[in-house]
Amino acid sequence: MSFPLILTERMTAHPADSHRLDRYEATGGYETLREALGAMKPEDILEQVKAANIQGRGGAAFPAGIKWGFLAPAEPRYLVINGDESEPGTFKDRQLLERDPHQLLEGAILTSFCIGANHAFIYIRGEYPKPARRVQQAVEAAYAKGYLGQNILGSGFDLDVTVHLGGGAYICGEETALLNSLEGQRGEPRLKPPFPAVEGLYAKPTIVNNVETISNIPWIVANGGDAYAAIGDVDSVGTRMFSLSGHLKKPGNYEVPMGLTWRELIYEVGGGIRDDRELKCWVPGGASAPWFVAEHLDTKVTKDDCARAGSMLGSGAVIVMDDTTNVVAAAHRIVKFFAHESCGQCTPCREGTTWLERILWRLLNGAGRPSDIDLLLDICDGISPGLAWPPRMTTICPLGPSAVSPITSIMTHFRDEVEAMIPGLQEVAHA
Ligand code: SF4
Repeated sequence: MSFPLILTERMTAHPADSHRLDRYEATGGYETLREALGAMKPEDILEQVKAANIQGRGGAAFPAGIKWGFLAPAEPRYLVINGDESEPGTFKDRQLLERDPHQLLEGAILTSFCIGANHAFIYIRGEYPKPARRVQQAVEAAYAKGYLGQNILGSGFDLDVTVHLGGGAYICGEETALLNSLEGQRGEPRLKPPFPAVEGLYAKPTIVNNVETISNIPWIVANGGDAYAAIGDVDSVGTRMFSLSGHLKKPGNYEVPMGLTWRELIYEVGGGIRDDRELKCWVPGGASAPWFVAEHLDTKVTKDDCARAGSMLGSGAVIVMDDTTNVVAAAHRIVKFFAHESCGQCTPCREGTTWLERILWRLLNGAGRPSDIDLLLDICDGISPGLAWPPRMTTICPLGPSAVSPITSIMTHFRDEVEAMIPGLQEVAHA
């Protein structure tokens, strides 16, 4: 399958040097900025981003134009770009940071001009040294050519960009924990409201957007919001980067228009299941997302279609599992990750995720007890009451409920396999 590319065209055509400023300029880079600063007002850019109806690509899928419109009138204002990509299975922002950092920078400048920010921060995951180095080099090159700093391209607009490396905590990808981390505090999520658009970095109005979201802005401004909205599906527009991994023939990052079916994404884009084995299930949107099974193959890859089917597109990480997979082991691995990354502020998350991990571990090691299934579900209910989707929360942030998703997934789709791991349970249940 081939598709028109918005984000990855340059890196696909020029893989050796797509990160360099000369290549970016030679392929039309910074032309949109030059034209916009000369002819557009901030509200013109906001109008185009609203018309594009682009949903944030970090996980929450909130429309970017609406978020920008919420910004409180106080000054100074900040733009913070979230590059703390740590959701298991997600590696799309890494490619955008490493292979086309000037596209991100041009988006950052256009966005800052639009929202009235004179300082932007790019927060990059600590385990991404090469992407961070490439972005830092791009920032320095942009300053040298007058795309950053004072009076950009003679427009009177000033912008400084700071690149910041995180310390390796997954929770700093949550926007308010990221802001605390940037301020030098512990990376712990804040209670909301107030939302960052009202009280964000240093208690000032702040827009936090994902790397992929901001990387789309130059194309939207250059081609118009309506052109962007014409790509994809009715409720989820544009293209999107998906990180395909697991038991696929062709794992990797792919930019595709929204609205394909999961069958097309897995079997045509991803090449199908390795060794032509049977598909067992897949994680559709990062480790936090409830799993899909074969009956969902013809569901469309959009926010609303996935929500109606009981899951989400989340961070765009698709982890495919074939029929050799021990689903209890897979769930245990994910739950162990969340237990390790809990910041510890909320008791249901801090205690519950650890209890869940220990119970799954004893199941895996042949020491499961007949009461363990009820116990798992009871603990899950304490973290996410009613086990509904989208989750209700007893916690400050969604990390706690994220650990519930793999357990409800295996209980819904593979309960027999879970019971089979508890000595004597199936004999009792079926006697
Ligand atoms: Fe921290 Fe977990 Fe509470 Fe989120 S849910 S604030 S990670 S304890």
